[in-house]
Amino acid sequence: MADRLLNICFHGIGEPGRELEPGEDRYWIGVDQFHRILDEIATWRNVRISFDDGNRSDLEYGLPALVERDLHATFFVLAGRLGQPGSLAEDDVRALDRAGMTIGTHGMNHRPWRGMASQEREIELVEARERIADASGRPVDQAALPLGRYDRQLLSSLRGLGYTRVFSSDRRASSAGSWLQPRFSVRVDDSASSMRSTVLPVPAFSSQLKVQLKGVAKRLR
Ligand SMILES: [Zn+2]
Repeated sequence: MADRLLNICFHGIGEPGRELEPGEDRYWIGVDQFHRILDEIATWRNVRISFDDGNRSDLEYGLPALVERDLHATFFVLAGRLGQPGSLAEDDVRALDRAGMTIGTHGMNHRPWRGMASQEREIELVEARERIADASGRPVDQAALPLGRYDRQLLSSLRGLGYTRVFSSDRRASSAGSWLQPRFSVRVDDSASSMRSTVLPVPAFSSQLKVQLKGVAKRLR
């Protein structure tokens, strides 16, 4: 891939300020661990950084570390958690926007977007986006798929609603211009060196093909 791009996604940093969902602790990392991983990926050539779930740690640890390193990130915020303990408040979202960061939507209630009835689809894909746009003071046109789940019907709904870029969690490289952007989520057992050895290298053709076919199967489902 000529324009091979690596999307790296963070979730929580430090101590969570709310009760975590089952299995979510896999995606919370320590503050030092976050700084070391950020220093590592800042040296990579084509990398795009994002933060999911709208945790308060986005503002507390994420933003200062990005600004210090002159990096940019997109923050995928959950509308239903705005102002809740441990999560970003509306003013925090505005502050991220003012600091030059991009704000996207992660929906309303952190539920999978596959197979939603039309009423839920309206809440998750339309109302949540409006609420986040009101908070940031700017239209929102990028989304991150909650829990990484999707199918063909969902992707066509998102296209129909004018989303210009949609991020999954498919753990493979992307290309800069793709509408659907796979990402690598940073996990609790990751380090700068594990990121360097597992995410950075171009995989052998056969394993590359395997993960790509997995993505195709999801899109056609
Ligand atoms: Zn999430």
